[in-house]
Amino acid sequence: MFDTLSDRLAATFKNLRGKGRLSEADIDATAREIRIALLEADVALPVVRAFIKQVKERAVGSEVSQALNPAQQVIKIVNEELVGILGGETRRLRYAKNPPTVIMLAGLQGSGKTTLAGKLGRWLKQQGHAPLLVACDLQRPNAVNQLSVVAERAGVAVFAPEPGNGVGDPVKVAEDSVVHARDKHHDVIVVDTAGRLGIDEELMRQAADIRDAVSPDEILFVVDAMIGQDAVTTAEAFRDGVGFDGVVLSKLDGDARGGAALSVAQVTGKQIMFASNGEKLDDFDAFHPDRMASRILG
Ligand code: GDP
Repeated sequence: MFDTLSDRLAATFKNLRGKGRLSEADIDATAREIRIALLEADVALPVVRAFIKQVKERAVGSEVSQALNPAQQVIKIVNEELVGILGGETRRLRYAKNPPTVIMLAGLQGSGKTTLAGKLGRWLKQQGHAPLLVACDLQRPNAVNQLSVVAERAGVAVFAPEPGNGVGDPVKVAEDSVVHARDKHHDVIVVDTAGRLGIDEELMRQAADIRDAVSPDEILFVVDAMIGQDAVTTAEAFRDGVGFDGVVLSKLDGDARGGAALSVAQVTGKQIMFASNGEKLDDFDAFHPDRMASRILG
């Protein structure tokens, strides 16, 4: 991911090297090239516009630094603006004062929620927590089983409906899981919810009902970075239908152009908190906007 964007930006900056002071025409030409690079990378248009405006304003008004040549100065501005659209600071999970902390996962089917539940469970365990993964995706026949498998691989406990006992009711499972967590001293629960391939009102309502039943401390919206521009539309639908506190990008290991990663935080106003970059449990970490910006700029 980001390879093409990185190459394009590197070529743009190369054109600036060796220049003395940058003229307005130089800045215009550079801004145009950055704009094309971002659009080609599938970044949402309003995000591109705002980005270019900022970069231009800052480059023209040039905070002229003696220490940096013009190319370095533009790179510095682009870097800072990239960090900004990626959410600025790294945002950490908020834990409840009275455990268990409830983390609810929401997103389309196939976005990587169940895989993420396992990754997050393992990550939380490594941080010294005693997580419980909760199977509230009762829509997809194999989802409960899949969650049990990832939980076992992650070495964390799972809470799933007993056959015949509220099997069809994810809200009850979620409620019961909180009681179970208190009983068994799990301090964080991760609730996996159902998602359809497209945005679906009934499932959106179900997610909202689960939310109302367990009042999550964090609702994380999981989005497949490979779906490009659709990531923004989907994020908006989930923001309006369920609401969420943070974003998890999955499948960053894919060869998508990266626009989703660069648009979602800006468009929804919610920060990217974690990123998944593979199918293995360890392919996962907290998201750091500054590191991602450096990766893009090479
Ligand atoms: P869910 O329907 O939202 O629960 O999605 P799943 O967790 O079942 O994931 C859907 C598919 O994407 C599975 O085949 C996962 O192995 C795969 N997957 C999940 N996360 C990643 C990731 O970060 N990278 C890659 N390459 N595949 C992933």
